[in-house]
Amino acid sequence: PAEMFYDDDADLSVIQGRKVAVIGYGSQGHAHALNLRDSGVQVVVGLREGSSSREKAENEGLQVMTVAEAVQHSDVVMLLAPDQVQRGLYAEEIQPHLKPGNALFFSHGFNIRFDYIVPPEGVDVAMVAPKGPGHLVRREYADGRGVPVLVAVEVDASGKAWDLAKSYAKAIGGLRAGGIRTTFTEETETDLFGEQAVLCGGASQLVMYGFEVLTEAGYQPEIAYFECLHELKLIVDLMIEGGIAKQRWSISDTAEFGDYVSGPRVIDPHVKENMQAVLADIVNGKFAQRFIDDQDAGAPEFNRLRKQGAEHPIEATGKQLRGLMSWIKDSDSDYVEGSAS
Ligand code: NDP
Ligand code: MG
Ligand code: MG
Repeated sequence: PAEMFYDDDADLSVIQGRKVAVIGYGSQGHAHALNLRDSGVQVVVGLREGSSSREKAENEGLQVMTVAEAVQHSDVVMLLAPDQVQRGLYAEEIQPHLKPGNALFFSHGFNIRFDYIVPPEGVDVAMVAPKGPGHLVRREYADGRGVPVLVAVEVDASGKAWDLAKSYAKAIGGLRAGGIRTTFTEETETDLFGEQAVLCGGASQLVMYGFEVLTEAGYQPEIAYFECLHELKLIVDLMIEGGIAKQRWSISDTAEFGDYVSGPRVIDPHVKENMQAVLADIVNGKFAQRFIDDQDAGAPEFNRLRKQGAEHPIEATGKQLRGLMSWIKDSDSDYVEGSAS
């Protein structure tokens, strides 16, 4: 079984005795910086010149520095810029200022697993990866709860990297929910697989195909939207509460029988083979290379796909319907509907 950590397994004073630089103040960055601060940890935020995040961090009373200054000032560096910019940022602003005894932290193993970042000797390399979006990491912490975290140590130069990683995990509230011990390789490969095959790629495509089949057969798009997208949350909530079994317990016998006979017909064994091929391209590095090469070229493929996704008819139908359902609020104030990211 997996090795789990809870609040009692970690000593908060370890991270309280260090100086932490959180690099980036986006989804994860703002959550880590604020949770660390509220846990009594000395934290500064590292941002590039002219950063659009600067004001937000300063409004919270956080000290903001350039990335290089933040690294020089600190002995634990948590790198929370987007994965595709980490390599360049690391080479130019971080690596030159890392000293033996420092620790380099990540929330996703991408750049270490695929060798885009190779830290120097004498530096602890660890991961505390919340299993949830950054805005939830902050909201749950503020409410006295936490989002579960994966914890890994890639390089234990000090011999104390595990204590440090667990302490950091506790400080952001992760050990209230529970930490699971993993490795950079396992976290990276399973995270990429989960988001591609099931959570994001698989679920989005399933919803879009369902919507297309109904509307192309002449049914009203509003009905198709409710059936294929809106109700999904209710089903997933039941799964979170009590597994697939509770979902099947709650739905009608008609729906449950349909689940058994039509689920495997829609998601047939061929889909499992496709998932295995997706996993193979994650493990062999092809996906990582495709993503980074595209980013390095100015992201032409990414931007084309993003535009194509935004233009799918389900988005127009959804926008109109959500406008009528006043109780569906977008609680993340920095999310702008129809915006790129
Ligand atoms: P975001 O896209 O939200 O990060 C944006 C932040 O990075 C902003 O403060 C931005 O500042 C800064 N930034 C962007 N480009 C640069 C640059 N070239 N140089 C310096 N700073 C830059 O990142 P996420 O929070 O989504 O992801 C951070 C890490 O956390 C990744 O490793 C990701 O895989 C991991 N992760 C993310 C999760 C999530 O919830 N999103 C969940 C679990 C892990 P500016 O205003 O200057 O652009
Ligand atoms: Mg991910
Ligand atoms: Mg129904």
